[in-house]
Amino acid sequence: MARGKKIYEGKAKILFEGPEPGTIVQYFKDDATAFNAEKKDVIDGKGALNNRLSEYFMTGLNQIGVPTHFLKRLNMREQLVRSCEIIPLEVIVRNFAAGTMSKRLGIEEGTQLPRPIVEYCYKDDSLGDPLVSEEHIAAFGWASQQDMDDILGLALRVNDFMSGVMFGAGIKLIDFKIEIGRIYEGDFQRLVVADEISPDSCRLWDIETGQKLDKDVFRRDLGNLTDAYAEVARRLGVMPKGTGPKPTLVN
Ligand code: 5GP
Repeated sequence: MARGKKIYEGKAKILFEGPEPGTIVQYFKDDATAFNAEKKDVIDGKGALNNRLSEYFMTGLNQIGVPTHFLKRLNMREQLVRSCEIIPLEVIVRNFAAGTMSKRLGIEEGTQLPRPIVEYCYKDDSLGDPLVSEEHIAAFGWASQQDMDDILGLALRVNDFMSGVMFGAGIKLIDFKIEIGRIYEGDFQRLVVADEISPDSCRLWDIETGQKLDKDVFRRDLGNLTDAYAEVARRLGVMPKGTGPKPTLVN
């Protein structure tokens, strides 16, 4: 499928104009970054795995009525998505303490939280995506109160879906980050889950051993990142063992 002009290049993906108006081709790179791009590497096969895994999660969400931007996967590294206006927030849902929450509040990593906790960060790399409150979001006009109600509902539904899918694969969903986009339909707007859902944006621990199967493997130098992501894909039946990932690059 022909893709159009490059629109945007981020740390892990490139966006191109899609074949139809209102569509975008999302290309998954092999680049891994952490700590606001202070740590960087190219991890062979990561892009292809994230493309497949994000397809799997987004398709499941669409099927249970949680709207996403995902339309279809095009090839090993590209998927077709609906163009949307990204709300400048990282929406984080946490089931167990880890990462910045553990540091900020002094709670041991892995401690189960009394209930899922939703946090918002302002998407701005130059500021390191700072944590913000709903007061900031309303006062600076990043999202309306109605949007915030809808975003909370979407985040919790994604959490229920992802927790269940992961539990079935023997994996604990510690936390994750999603992004939300606006799609305009005539005079109306609809909010959808956008960007990607993959082990780059989730914390995933093996239920039995606690082994990390997510980007912390890269952030904390715990081993081979592609092996960890391939294990998630294998358990979910997305890429059976032995079939990948050794992508032929499609550019
Ligand atoms: P933390 O705030 O503990 O660093 O991250 C919480 C969760 O959100 C983790 O699952 C982490 O992977 C995800 N997350 C937070 N910020 C980002 C980001 O800028 N990019 C990606 N891919 N994931 C993020």
